Amino acid sequence: LLSICKGAGIAQQSAKFHTKLPLATPVVNIGLNQKPHPTKCLATYVWIDGTGEHLRSKTRTLKEIPKSIEHYPMWQYDGSSCGQAQGRDSDLFLRPVADYPDPFLGGNSRLVLCDTLSSQLQPTATNKRADCLSVMKAIENTEPWFGMEQEYLLLDRDGHPLGWPKNGYPAPQGPYYCGVGADRVFGREVIDTHYVACLNAGIEIGGTNAEVTPGQWEYQVGTCEGIAMADQLWMSRYLLHRVAEQFGVLVTFDPKPAITMGDWNGAGCHTNFSTLQMRNPEGLDAIKEACERLGRTHHEDIKLYDPNQGRDNLRRLTGKHETSSVEKFSWGIADRGCSVRITRFVAIEGRGYLEDRRPSSNCDPYSVTGAIAKSILLTPAG
Ligand code: ADP
Ligand code: MN
Ligand code: MN
Ligand code: MN
Ligand code: MN
Repeated sequence: LLSICKGAGIAQQSAKFHTKLPLATPVVNIGLNQKPHPTKCLATYVWIDGTGEHLRSKTRTLKEIPKSIEHYPMWQYDGSSCGQAQGRDSDLFLRPVADYPDPFLGGNSRLVLCDTLSSQLQPTATNKRADCLSVMKAIENTEPWFGMEQEYLLLDRDGHPLGWPKNGYPAPQGPYYCGVGADRVFGREVIDTHYVACLNAGIEIGGTNAEVTPGQWEYQVGTCEGIAMADQLWMSRYLLHRVAEQFGVLVTFDPKPAITMGDWNGAGCHTNFSTLQMRNPEGLDAIKEACERLGRTHHEDIKLYDPNQGRDNLRRLTGKHETSSVEKFSWGIADRGCSVRITRFVAIEGRGYLEDRRPSSNCDPYSVTGAIAKSILLTPAG
């Protein structure tokens, strides 16, 4: 008894010692070690450019935080410099659609996701949000939840994968997935900072892990209901680029950068989906039915699963490296070689969700979530 008490005493002492240590401060403010402005809202408007893949942003000062998203002013930008308009008729509109606390500037500052509109106030060619929103509204009553697993590769500023030898290749894949150690994972400080930045911005980031190819990582966003999934994923990508900027490295969402075309896993954006019916007891039947329905629209959906009408995924969906073949739809339980996977947990529980493994890492989540919802819930059989 005496020895236990003694032990407890030591434990208490060391607990006390630890509470005296300063709390860890998230490093989301590198180079900007100043207090947030006490009143002003520095509103950073973020939008998707003409590639349908890259993001742009610019910042303006507002006197205070607008009461709701409708109260943010519309803005304009130079569409000709974003691959979206001709110089002689260049002004396009930014319409705020969702706002988040800015984890870099802090205080009242906000990141403001916008969709892009033409001079006639119509969606631009790379604005896929409007269509997604109408699908989500049509299926609102099914309570659609999504979760997306965003994979990506970190690059040095010279475009070479982070941590790879500058001449030649790293040792074959195997030790890198969920790896620990400076010879196995590269850029964890970026990943951790991004994680905290997402949480501080109110993004539903669910987790993160090192991936199979060295320098490759994943984080998950979700579950999110309806349109919020794509809104949040786009903003999480913006945050990742911004964090990487502060560490002087680059992020690529390309599903298979040229240097990785050998025996290296590509990058995807697995998209998990459920309705209330699938989450309820006996939901597995509805999940299997949904898999069958996804098979009916496979070739149409593949065109929407990367920003280049399916061409990017041709490099990735080879049937090797834990992917299915782009030619053929398949689904299965616990099978990572299928287009759509039902996880073992879900099969055992008899309810839950399905995982569509086809979307590429650079996909537009508006197109992907819209296509999944439409194929499963709005496409008549036949
Ligand atoms: P794995 O790597 O095994 O495919 P992850 O743990 O990386 O799985 O990701 C699981 C994803 O599934 C997360 O994005 C999570 O939000 C999502 N998810 C979990 N439950 C549901 C559900 N009921 N409906 C939709 N998505 C879900
Ligand atoms: Mn100017
Ligand atoms: Mn995953
Ligand atoms: Mn993964
Ligand atoms: Mn997955």
